[in-house]
Amino acid sequence: MVKNEKLKEILIVGGGSAGWMAAAMFSHLFQGLYKIRLIESEEIATIGVGEATIPAIKRYNDLLDLDEAEFMRTTQGTFKLGIQFNDWLNIGSSYIHGFGVIGQDLGWLRMHHYWLRMRQQGEVSDLANFSINTAAALKNKFLRSRPDMPESPLSEIAHAFHFDAGLYAKFLSGFSQRRGVTRTEGKVVDVTLRPEDGFVESVTMENGEVITADLFIDCSGFRGLLIEQAMKTGYEDWTQWLPCDRALAVPCARSENFTPYTRATARGAGWQWRIPLQHRTGNGHVFSSKYMDEAEAEAILLSNLDGEQLAEPLRIRYVTGKRKKFWNRNCVAIGLASGFLEPLESTSLFLIQSSIIRLVNLFPDRQFDQANIDEFNRQTNFEYERTRDFVILHYKATQRDDTEFWRYCRDMPIPDTLQRKMDLFAANGRIFREDDELFAEVSWIQVLLGQGIIPRNYDPLVDLKSGAQIAQYLDNIETVVAKCVDVMPTHEVFVSKFCPAPA
Ligand code: FAD
Repeated sequence: MVKNEKLKEILIVGGGSAGWMAAAMFSHLFQGLYKIRLIESEEIATIGVGEATIPAIKRYNDLLDLDEAEFMRTTQGTFKLGIQFNDWLNIGSSYIHGFGVIGQDLGWLRMHHYWLRMRQQGEVSDLANFSINTAAALKNKFLRSRPDMPESPLSEIAHAFHFDAGLYAKFLSGFSQRRGVTRTEGKVVDVTLRPEDGFVESVTMENGEVITADLFIDCSGFRGLLIEQAMKTGYEDWTQWLPCDRALAVPCARSENFTPYTRATARGAGWQWRIPLQHRTGNGHVFSSKYMDEAEAEAILLSNLDGEQLAEPLRIRYVTGKRKKFWNRNCVAIGLASGFLEPLESTSLFLIQSSIIRLVNLFPDRQFDQANIDEFNRQTNFEYERTRDFVILHYKATQRDDTEFWRYCRDMPIPDTLQRKMDLFAANGRIFREDDELFAEVSWIQVLLGQGIIPRNYDPLVDLKSGAQIAQYLDNIETVVAKCVDVMPTHEVFVSKFCPAPA
């Protein structure tokens, strides 16, 4: 006979983006099936950065039935068509990893194979001109996709958001509490494990209150209060591949240059981000403390702001890597408590959303069947590792040799999974998305080419078309993309009409 072993109570520890994203999704999907409580402490600040996203965040927002304009207004949001990488390949280089497609496939092959052939003959323009996202980004233009125009590149625009991380958590907090989540303010000072099996039994608050639950979600940030401090789950350190371990973040006044993209500019021992919001611009310098001290990193950051500095820099330390298990017994770590790659490809909020959805798909009952736990850990591991590989690619495939940091990155051994992808692409420009890995072929193609990995040969099937046919095909795409970009409004005009935030 099947027993009713339903869980009753879920306790989320932590009220940063991870905690409130989990609370919002659970309260929306579970509709009162479980009692959900979230603990956060005003004394322990959230990380407060995390302002750039990838298009997958729209799936999360759609699942919550959020209205995009309201969400953007409330979080001072702007639109993001991709990321511009300056000085990564060498000083002076620049390319954009644009979301969405590049051109159109022809016959069996993706567009870049034909582009590679024409490039060999020196007869082709920049790859950026064939992607609606990238071409629009370079002109500071923006439009949401137009599915009503299926023949036009305008239907293929793919966007994500920049927003204020603090306002985002606040927005989701209101959303969750309206759907029955109980918020508890206060500090957790102790975690009690059941002696017989090591499951989490309760947490103890500073005021002495003991809070029990069936399922614990650890969203306590880098400290990993439950998953690590109490359960000693273990951490896999990836510093040898992702050597940056410090960040300084500072807002500055909004400037004229209201870009619909994030900018990541490589520096001597790391890189600097620039994220335009409606009320300010977010900036940060991510660097390796082994190769640069904090004073120098700060001086570089502050001398490269394009508006008045609005606050003292926030100082963040981290170790790139991941927990050995994301789900251990009755505790699931989500957000920074589960691991951190680094912010280069804006993947952390995605990894949070993905873990939340995966947990819903493998939601336990009181038996906590190990098969569900193992599958959750297997899928999350795969996602972390493949996303890690994509981020490492930016560091590894560099021609910079001007600092010790870049020479280290250029020469470092890399995971076999990444080496295999780079070798395959370097041969004939081929790349395959494996299983559900986050970044699709178009993302890899743009970064591989942008980082100077130019295939030795194009795909032999390109030669099914004559040179004249290929030239005309590429010319058509470029012309249509340019015409579409011409009719798009500027990012500034679009935001001011669609989702202006209160001043
Ligand atoms: P936190 O924000 O640290 O929240 C932890 C919560 O736990 C807080 O509410 C705190 O009060 C609570 N807490 C901790 N201990 C206790 C206790 N003892 N008792 C009670 N409560 C407690 N992500 C992106 O997607 N895009 C980006 O552009 C991006 N940029 C980033 C840049 C940097 C430099 C860093 C470090 C991260 C960036 N991230 C980015 C990641 C993103 O900021 C985080 O993934 C996201 O904010 C989630 O954080 P969190 O909720 O896990 O942890």
